Amino acid sequence: MNYAEVAVNSPGSRSTFCYAIPPRLNISVGQAVWVPFGTRVIQGIVLRLSDEPSVEETKEIAAIVADFPLLSPIQIKLAQWVSEHYFAPPFDALALMLPPGFERRAITCFQLTDSQVDLSSLTPEQRQIVGIMGGKKKASLPELERAIGKRKARQITDQLLTHKLITQTLELEKAKIKPKTLPYIKLIADREEIEAAEARLAKSKACKQAELLKFLAGQTQPISISELRERLNCSPATIRALESRHLVSVEKLRVRRDPLSHLSLTTSPPPVLTPSQQAAWKSMQDVIAEEARQSGKPPVFLLFGVTGSGKTEIYLRALAQVIATGKRGICLIPEIALTQQTVERFASRFPGRVAVLHSGLSLGEQFDEWQWIMEGNCDVVIGPRSALFAPLTDLGLIIIDEEHEWTYKQEDKSPRYHARDVAIKLAQLNEAVVILGSATPDVGSFHKAQQGEYHLVELKERISPRGYSPLPEVSIVDLREELKAGNTSLLSRSLLVAMKETLAQGEQIILFLNRRGTATFVRCRNCGFVWRCPRCSIALTYHSVEKRLICHRCRYSIPVSQTCPQCFQRHLRLLGIGTQRVEEEVRHFFPEARLLRWDRDVITRRYAHEELLKSFRDHKADVLIGTQMIAKGLDLPQVTLAGIINADTGLNFPDFRSSERTFQLLCQVAGRAGRGVKAGKVIIQTYSPDNYIIEAAAKHDYLGFYHKEIDYRRQYNYPPFGQLIRLVYSHSDERLCHREAERVYHLILEEKTRENMIDLSIIGPVPTFAFRARGMYRWQLFLRGPDPTRMLSQLTLPRGWTTDVDPIGMV
Ligand code: ADP
Ligand code: ZN
Repeated sequence: MNYAEVAVNSPGSRSTFCYAIPPRLNISVGQAVWVPFGTRVIQGIVLRLSDEPSVEETKEIAAIVADFPLLSPIQIKLAQWVSEHYFAPPFDALALMLPPGFERRAITCFQLTDSQVDLSSLTPEQRQIVGIMGGKKKASLPELERAIGKRKARQITDQLLTHKLITQTLELEKAKIKPKTLPYIKLIADREEIEAAEARLAKSKACKQAELLKFLAGQTQPISISELRERLNCSPATIRALESRHLVSVEKLRVRRDPLSHLSLTTSPPPVLTPSQQAAWKSMQDVIAEEARQSGKPPVFLLFGVTGSGKTEIYLRALAQVIATGKRGICLIPEIALTQQTVERFASRFPGRVAVLHSGLSLGEQFDEWQWIMEGNCDVVIGPRSALFAPLTDLGLIIIDEEHEWTYKQEDKSPRYHARDVAIKLAQLNEAVVILGSATPDVGSFHKAQQGEYHLVELKERISPRGYSPLPEVSIVDLREELKAGNTSLLSRSLLVAMKETLAQGEQIILFLNRRGTATFVRCRNCGFVWRCPRCSIALTYHSVEKRLICHRCRYSIPVSQTCPQCFQRHLRLLGIGTQRVEEEVRHFFPEARLLRWDRDVITRRYAHEELLKSFRDHKADVLIGTQMIAKGLDLPQVTLAGIINADTGLNFPDFRSSERTFQLLCQVAGRAGRGVKAGKVIIQTYSPDNYIIEAAAKHDYLGFYHKEIDYRRQYNYPPFGQLIRLVYSHSDERLCHREAERVYHLILEEKTRENMIDLSIIGPVPTFAFRARGMYRWQLFLRGPDPTRMLSQLTLPRGWTTDVDPIGMV
């Protein structure tokens, strides 16, 4: 093979490029290489090899980055799928799988040649460059560009090169990470020599040296200097003395930076499965055996069970079984900082065989974990969505815990992938089983289970220290009634009573505030009226820049008024309450109670989550006030009361998923109470007590919610019935931004008419919810239909547009 198709690391590059392989290089698929690209040399990954070039003129591969393939054939296939499905540049998809700290740049440098330069023969600009290169006789291109501008730097260095006054070289940017090494000491002489030396040294009063020799003779492995100093009081001088006698040597050995080393793990035997777990596990095993016999295709399970029903124990069983057959598993969790308990459970069940991968680790730790996995040292990789791309071979099982969580979708950068869909693809390529677990499955996932595409397995009872326990009792408080009774506090009378009782019992409380969607819509505090779009009926979104209420679906807009059109009162209020206000009110009513506030403002340091959680679990506080984060996967056995400050905030979000999202959050918060010895109680405060979402959440009625929701999705062609693609344009100029969005809208409209795509709808253009972010204005368009990708593949969007296939939301 003489040619290689290479995906290059050049931003936004949608195609691959063909390069010739120079005879001196041995190139295989998956290998990282340096290739010339324009005026630069950049990194790329070899995707295919061929005998014939795909274009007429090819450049040669400059060098290899590592002499072995960094990516496996399966990973290459997966990256290609990701790139195609999400309309992402191939290198972006491959980069997901490269070792941490891989990306490096090659920098062009110039060096003065030895030829004696007659400065007077040079132009002033040429002289300036020679001057900058100065005493070191050397400078990098970026340095020169900074000094005299980009174009000039190129131009003048070219002149100097032709005159052979300078030469050009490529230098690699400094590596971001290096393996960590520690000095280790070991004996290098044979046994007899050592014994003789020991006796000699003891006699000549070099007792320390003799003692050290004796100690080392008793070791089977090299020992690190730091450990040696802990165990034996010996000085550096003693070590140096033995070194100079050629009896010992000190060498630097590579050590792993273990991100789990701070955990104190206790291993305990796995518990006996409860009858429900046993039944669920048995049915899963039957399906696996059956599918293997029939289609040879491994199944996807949807493990549907309330919080605390024992799903994690099933994951551990499934992993143990996979490991027993010589395969390995990946377990995805929504957010590592919040699920340290889960990590600990996995690490104690498979001691020394669990790797964690996430961005909270130092780059060095990430690199070591990656290397450790690559070398085949671990059986289980655990982490957030990116853990899917660990270099794990022999994959037999992928678990996605809390599969409905939105953190599984990468939204902020390309490729905008969803880990669930990528996991299923990866499992197919590996013939691995997938388990999706949730108490409130994603509507799309549950639909697939109903259609028979996934296998539904249920766990119906909660397990608690008192055996099976019922779900907590939930009551709904109508906030409009509170206002009528003159209570303007954030805490209703019933919630206050319940809090008082709970505190008197010495038990714990969590108060939950849904912050997403606050201050986005306007409500009358007197009658509960919310401004809605007369055409689409979704809540209008408040845009502070224009001081208008705008429909995010059809662009209907009105100025914000002062009085409510329903009751004519002036009680309008922009909805936005922060955890700090909740904290103040609780402090006002319960000055004695110890409060903890948990939101992103408080949590900034690494491990801060764990510390906060630990202090709450150790009962160092009575009330925990928090946002979304406290809804997630926490095991808080002493909590007997959960209060939801305002259940509606998320409901009025102009998004087809706002109901689903709110339902999930309410159920999750409710699931936090009563997990311990005592039963729990939940109070939901709301302005719309008749809303079916709130009623269903209060009854823990997933199916009731699901059936309503799926009808709505079917009626409006939203996922899972139609596919959505989101196109966002950003620009620093507001008018330009708007104009470009309109231009593309009309472009799509024309194409739709020409191709007669009747079932494709175009939604927008409308400003995005965070209309202006980091100084950039943003407008968006949505394509919805059975196959919106067909339209997309016919469009070439200019720079500034981003494409999000299967976006998780519309705001
Ligand atoms: P989920 O993952 O569904 O939230 P977990 O697996 O965390 O549920 O189980 C809830 C609680 O019950 C945990 O404290 C766990 O240790 C315990 N548990 C789970 N399975 C068993 C079992 N078979 N026997 C005893 N305790 C169990
Ligand atoms: Zn509208």
